[in-house]
Amino acid sequence: NREIHLASRPQGWPTAENFRLVETGVPTPGPGQLVVRNQFMSVDPYMRGRMNDVKSYVPPFQLDAPLDGGAIGEVVASEAEGFVPGDTVLHGLGWREYALLDARAARKVDPSLAPASAYLSVLGMTGLTAYAGLLDVAAMKPGDAVFVSGAAGAVGSMVGQIAKLRGASRVIGSAGSAAKVERLTALGFDAAFDYHDGPVRDSLKAAAPDGIDVYFDNVGSEHLEAAISALNLHGRVAICGMIAQYNASEPPAAPRNLALLIGKRLTLRGFLVGDHGHLRDQFVQEMSSWLRDGKISYDETVVDGIENAPEAFLGVLRGENLGKMLVRV
Ligand code: NDP
Repeated sequence: NREIHLASRPQGWPTAENFRLVETGVPTPGPGQLVVRNQFMSVDPYMRGRMNDVKSYVPPFQLDAPLDGGAIGEVVASEAEGFVPGDTVLHGLGWREYALLDARAARKVDPSLAPASAYLSVLGMTGLTAYAGLLDVAAMKPGDAVFVSGAAGAVGSMVGQIAKLRGASRVIGSAGSAAKVERLTALGFDAAFDYHDGPVRDSLKAAAPDGIDVYFDNVGSEHLEAAISALNLHGRVAICGMIAQYNASEPPAAPRNLALLIGKRLTLRGFLVGDHGHLRDQFVQEMSSWLRDGKISYDETVVDGIENAPEAFLGVLRGENLGKMLVRV
């Protein structure tokens, strides 16, 4: 059993030296427990925040202990009622080959309905983040013009497609390369731009000449400032993430135009997907039917081997992923 430990806390950008590959034995389950052979683990930007020793909405990772996070795998040993070897379960102990879990912390899924990886991406936490953030938090309505940053990533690519399917008048996305911009156009975005090509404010203005009604923020900073300038009266913003500042050692300079919130009567709302579990059934049903009808596409970037998980994590911060970043364990 191999697992990844946090060897030291990154200052600014993490490096490979912050992680350590450790060999341990395969665990055996006690009463009420399972052992799961992980198949895929989720690689998420929020994990960067957990590498700092600060109080937040999730506890920090501990030094010299395995990291954790969303994972899916097959039960190989069970001392828990209702679980047998061969079951596929979702749980929170990624970053290792074998996970020892209390059965309460595992959720059984049906691997015949969708590929295992999809339960971590399009049908999982990522898809629900997009769905809840757009429809619940930002209260997108048919006819709204929607802008999403990080648009070629796991959450952003879902936001843009859901907005189109739910009747947005115009969907604009920003991403970090020409290839990603091309992908967004293929996914049905009405306009897309590479945020390296000039000030975000100018690119957004050109892409949304009549302004926007909803902004789904994955990036923060200059993107948020540009969106505030472009928002129309009564515009709404779902604050999902601010990846532009996760590795910053100084607070960001932008946004500098918050006073616009007053005259435009804007609403900016932060949210956590964990508070929107009540939407899960509705989300899974609607997303499954879009998938079945071929109305939604999803990308996954899969890195093989637990030993490469740190590199996959650094990759997501650098933008090396298209769609969801996963490690095949
Ligand atoms: P993504 O798949 O979008 O991967 C992150 C992407 O961010 C990279 O691919 C990169 O793409 C982009 N990026 C990195 N640095 C910058 C930068 N400085 N400026 C602009 N873009 C940058 O990750 P997720 O879809 O998993 O997450 C998206 C956001 O949603 C994150 O901020 C995350 O923290 C947040 N999140 C929040 C949740 C919640 O409950 N609130 C739940 C899940 C995610 P590019 O090439 O375009 O730069």
